[in-house]
Amino acid sequence: MPPIIAVTATTEVIRDVLRVRVNEAYTRALTEVGLVPFVIPPLPSAAAADAIRAVDGLLLTGGEDLAPDRYGQEAHPTVDVHVGRDESEIALCLAAMAQGIPTLAICRGIQVVNVALGGTLIQDIPSQRPNALDHDPRVERSDRVHDVSVAADSLLAAALEADRLVANSSHHQALDRVADGLRVTACAPDGVIEGAEFTDPRWWMLAVQWHPEELIATPEPWDRNLFAAFARAVHERRG
Ligand code: MN
Repeated sequence: MPPIIAVTATTEVIRDVLRVRVNEAYTRALTEVGLVPFVIPPLPSAAAADAIRAVDGLLLTGGEDLAPDRYGQEAHPTVDVHVGRDESEIALCLAAMAQGIPTLAICRGIQVVNVALGGTLIQDIPSQRPNALDHDPRVERSDRVHDVSVAADSLLAAALEADRLVANSSHHQALDRVADGLRVTACAPDGVIEGAEFTDPRWWMLAVQWHPEELIATPEPWDRNLFAAFARAVHERRG
């Protein structure tokens, strides 16, 4: 049996019906490295923790903003939340951490991990960090738009097989106070956090603020390498 990966989905009204939805780029990026995606809708926390027991890995996907009351703040007017997703994904994250289930966290995913472990977010980069780069430019999702420097001694650099890259960028939030247990391993030139990882090797958890799933067909190998490293981590844990 190939490894099964839980892929978090959102819910959205499409053609008048509330539906479970996830961008196909995520599931394709997994199948390209021999992993089988299992799409997980937003679930109550107990059911989310049960779901983790059935899988070999977890992919936390992009999407809405976390509700700021999760980290003790009032919401900035630009914040767009999905509280059912927050409950589900925080429970998935904590269950994956407790069981050492390899986890790749993308965009909203890096924010979910940081908040689940007790960190905070910049709620709106343009208004709260006015000197920052434009992290949400109106370009194609697969356009590489800003540099990222990666700590050379990090798991993330080993996974990417690079300590600098150019990434796409489609986010208006970022990590602010970093949770205990996480190490920042990648930053944009303006200091905005673009990558983090868990410091205890019992939980393989790499997190990025960009969208590697949109970049697996580009000439540069970094993002394909990241998914391949996730697959290796999943296989190594299964033994
Ligand atoms: Mn960015």
